[in-house]
Amino acid sequence: MAHSAASPAIAPSATPVTLPIRAILPWAVFFGVLMLVLLYFVGAEQGATSLMSGENVHEWLHDGRHLLGFPCH
Ligand SMILES: [Zn+2]
Repeated sequence: MAHSAASPAIAPSATPVTLPIRAILPWAVFFGVLMLVLLYFVGAEQGATSLMSGENVHEWLHDGRHLLGFPCH
């Protein structure tokens, strides 16, 4: 069986995968809302804007608040 060294190269088909926007949109909204809630708890859960009484949430996220540059104390 003889193989030719100069066999014709098979060009890979480079068809892009299409992602339907209707499949991505609910997940994008979900993660967007999740990030906004996280941003609220890290950046604004304190004092007059506090949703939860006490300082527990603030203390748990205190280092993250300073790391991200939110005003704290
Ligand atoms: Zn602080």
